[in-house]
Amino acid sequence: MAPEVLAPKRTVTKTVAAACLQNYIGGKEVKARTTQSLSVTDPSTGQEIATVPLSRAEDVDDAVRSAKAAFHKWSATPIKERVQVFFRYKMLLEQHRQELALLVNQENGKVMNEAVAEVEKAIEVTEFACSMPQLSSGEILEVSKGVECRIDRHPLGVVASITPFNFPNMVPNWTIPNALVLGNTLILKPSEQVPISSMRIAGLLKEAGLPDGVFNVVHGAQEVVEALCDHSGIEALTFVGSTRIAKIVYTRATAHLKRAVCLGGAKNHLIVLPDAHEEMAASNIAASMSGCAGQRCMAASAMVAVGPVDHIIDRLCQEAKKIVPGKNLGPVISLQAKERIERYIAEAEREGAKILVDGRGATVQGKEGGYWVGPTVIDFVRPDMKIAQEEVFGPVLVIMRAKTVDEALKIENSNPYGNAASVFTQSGAAARYVMERASAGMIGINIGVPVPREPFSFGGWNESKFGACDITGKSSIEFFTKLKKTTTKWNPESKANWMS
Ligand code: NAD
Repeated sequence: MAPEVLAPKRTVTKTVAAACLQNYIGGKEVKARTTQSLSVTDPSTGQEIATVPLSRAEDVDDAVRSAKAAFHKWSATPIKERVQVFFRYKMLLEQHRQELALLVNQENGKVMNEAVAEVEKAIEVTEFACSMPQLSSGEILEVSKGVECRIDRHPLGVVASITPFNFPNMVPNWTIPNALVLGNTLILKPSEQVPISSMRIAGLLKEAGLPDGVFNVVHGAQEVVEALCDHSGIEALTFVGSTRIAKIVYTRATAHLKRAVCLGGAKNHLIVLPDAHEEMAASNIAASMSGCAGQRCMAASAMVAVGPVDHIIDRLCQEAKKIVPGKNLGPVISLQAKERIERYIAEAEREGAKILVDGRGATVQGKEGGYWVGPTVIDFVRPDMKIAQEEVFGPVLVIMRAKTVDEALKIENSNPYGNAASVFTQSGAAARYVMERASAGMIGINIGVPVPREPFSFGGWNESKFGACDITGKSSIEFFTKLKKTTTKWNPESKANWMS
């Protein structure tokens, strides 16, 4: 039967010879058991660059079989040998940095220096994974005369990782190196909007010497995710995406008795005090709201201006105007995303907010089919407005006014999300006051994008994360392993106390 390409999520203006992606199971590309596929487009032009199969539950079954078959040998390989693959993988990521960044640039649209930065972060998390033998060693203690307790870490088995569109290389790599070095085998379900990078990751892992079946990719959408949640052969699952889907996936995976950590969306608040360093605050905030076209779960999306900070807002607007679509600002992911973002702006304007910088209707010469939204700064937004409460996920910053730090904190605390929050001030006491009271998992002090670098873990609070443990760093060791506790006695003759 001829494959059926479903209506793309994005408008396709011209069809070029596009690669038909396949699943990656057992170390080779395997045709999905489906006739349905989706178009993958370059968001800067709207042109189709690939098609991705909408795999079925049977494809997940195949991947689980492959990952299970590989688990026995891989988990029995000493960690000091497993880690060698990831020393080589890190080197390959470095060697192919530009090529990998170009793939990200093509399928996601972010500008090249942002795409390179994404690959750099993938390299950093791989470097962290290379220190796993040192970080994950067990414990031993003589707990009573001649009686010893020891704890060993064991891998869980087959784990699954479901990823979003905004970091096609980095987010899959949040889980791949850590989960695999720790002895698990893995099935990745990348975003169907950006599935190409994951295939190159698979190729590099193979080149690094990863045994077949240890890493698998199943492309698709809802049906694949549901099958991963339900499959009894999968022990644990990580999810990164929107809060709405994170809740569904967390509920479903845990109902099937899986360990799960599901990261959701964000509405990150920046509290700006009058004593903040004007130039530094303004340029940091402008970069945070517009970097990756605002499609970052760590992006600044709401600024709470405390007292007289108009000088910083003026400077921020000057900085925002230097950010030009097609030059140092990439497109958003799809036509639907562009329309959604512009609807939020229009609604805020109707409700009485003041648009200081307006990015609506942006176009780029020669790339008229792209999904462009320019940087947008909106002042006098009230906390009860939709644009103040919901995740916009575009290069848009709303400004809310507060008279005191406590009022600003009340606005931040009342938002249901809790990924990141930042404060800009020159006062250590004020910074600490906000750090202690902001309701978010990652706090920035004079930093617009407070992503913790390894070995510190990544993860939000509230509706930005469901489940115990963070997804990276030392916390991921807890997530991807289970503990075996062994008590040993070699002195049958001695009876020193009740324990011996
Ligand atoms: P999304 O929730 O639409 O999709 C994420 C994944 O879920 C994709 O693989 C997709 O195929 C799958 N999916 C979509 N609908 C589904 C359904 N009904 N049932 C089961 N699976 C489904 O997210 P997105 O648009 O790809 O990514 C953007 C979102 O991700 C934003 O909300 C952003 O804040 C969030 N994000 C969060 C973090 C974080 O660390 N907290 C990091 C990156 C992105």
